[in-house]
Formats: sequence, C-alpha cells, structure tokens
Amino acid sequence: MKLTVIGCAGSFPSPASPASCYLIEHEGSRLVLDMGNGSFGVLQQHVDLQWPGALEAVVLSHCHLDHCADIGSLYVQRHYYSPRSERLRVLGPSNARARAVAIYGREDEAGLDHEFEYLTFTREPMTVGPFTIEAVHAVHPVEAFSVRVCADGHSITYSGDTAYNDRLVALAEGTDVALFEASFVGKEFPPAVHMSASEAGRAAREAGASRLVLTHHVVLNDPAVVLAEASAEFDGPIDQAHPGLTITC
Ligand SMILES: [Zn+2]
Ligand SMILES: [Zn+2]
Repeated sequence: MKLTVIGCAGSFPSPASPASCYLIEHEGSRLVLDMGNGSFGVLQQHVDLQWPGALEAVVLSHCHLDHCADIGSLYVQRHYYSPRSERLRVLGPSNARARAVAIYGREDEAGLDHEFEYLTFTREPMTVGPFTIEAVHAVHPVEAFSVRVCADGHSITYSGDTAYNDRLVALAEGTDVALFEASFVGKEFPPAVHMSASEAGRAAREAGASRLVLTHHVVLNDPAVVLAEASAEFDGPIDQAHPGLTITC
C-alpha cells in the first residue's frame, strides 16, 4: 500500500497545507481518508477524478469541517462535471449523510444520494475493493472513529481525531504505519479531544507499530517540539506529515 498525505493541518487549513486528507493506493485501487477543507484541489494533483474508477470509496473519520468539508466539492465535481451512473461509497459515522447534505446546502429529500452511497461504520470489518477497513470509536466531542486500512497483509492505522485510548492501541496492534494525530504538546491540555505528541508516540509504541507518522499539525506548535515529544516515547522511525509525503508499506 502507498499512503500519500494530501493535507495534514489540524483544525483548519494552514498556509502550507489543507486540512486532513490522505490518499491510500494499492495495485491501482484508491481510497481517500477524510476530506478536510482545502483538500479537494491538492487531491486532484494525485488522482484524475474525471476517471470513473478513480476512487473505491471515501472514508470519513468524523464530520468536523477539517475532516469532511470538501465532500461538498467532490459532489459538485461528480454531479456536474463528470456524470456517471454508479454511486461512490462514503464510509463514516451515522451523521455523514446529513452532514454532506448540509455542507452542500441541498434542501430536497434526495440529498446527495444520487452520487453517494453512505455506509455507517459497523463492528465488523468492511471491504471496498482490495481494502479491508476496521473502525473503532474515538474519544472526541462528536461521533468519531479511528480506522485501520489493510490490504495484502499490510496496514495503515489512522487515529482520526481522538484523545489517547486503549481502543486505538488495540486497533493499531502490529500496524505498519501509525498515522496518529499530535495536536497538543506539553502536559496541560483539554481532556477527551486530541492526543499530545507524547501520547501519539506512546500509543504507537504500545501498539508495536513499525513506524509513526505524526499529523493534524496545529499552527501554534513548534514542529521540533512535537517531534521531540513523540521521539521520547517511540524509538522507531517517525515522519512529520506534510503534503506530498508518501509512505509505502
Ligand atoms: Zn481535526
Ligand atoms: Zn475533530
């Protein structure tokens, strides 16, 4: 599998990056993990969305704007600029459909259903193309999930937005790539919202991850401090996410 970071800015787009969006590819199949604001333009640098088979699915960890806003742009592109008969699967929380409709501003009953088929995460793994997707509840102020994507025995585990929790550690057990958010630094921060860099490193270590990619970068943080705090907990390879970063596993 190949992971490409499309956007990794936390909470809102930064001058250097769209908000959260990741492209995962395996043998010609692709899925997109989150579509935060600003991501749609950069995504098109990596995927020809005019091609009908461009994406197997979009996976939304939760419906905060910095993770789902550009689903509205994807709808416009598919509906008006690249008409096709098949619907695109959107895996996510139970409010994904309502949220997509609200973002786009469509007010009739059909919503965006002629373009998107919404599948709510279940306890059972879900399969799209060559990918198997497992989701567990995250710890965040809204319905949110952490997601593990597997193909051909390899895996990428994405924390989404979450405070540190045991479910994330279990989900990520033995994963090739821990794509974990590191929104806070230091020891004083709000509970039940996000992980600190230290906690991201701890969770990756406890999961036995092969490598850690730090993401959801918050503009107030010093990247060197983020890296140092994660490195104190996790002694495997660590990357700081940035648009265009690719990791193969
Ligand atoms: Zn976020
Ligand atoms: Zn969030």
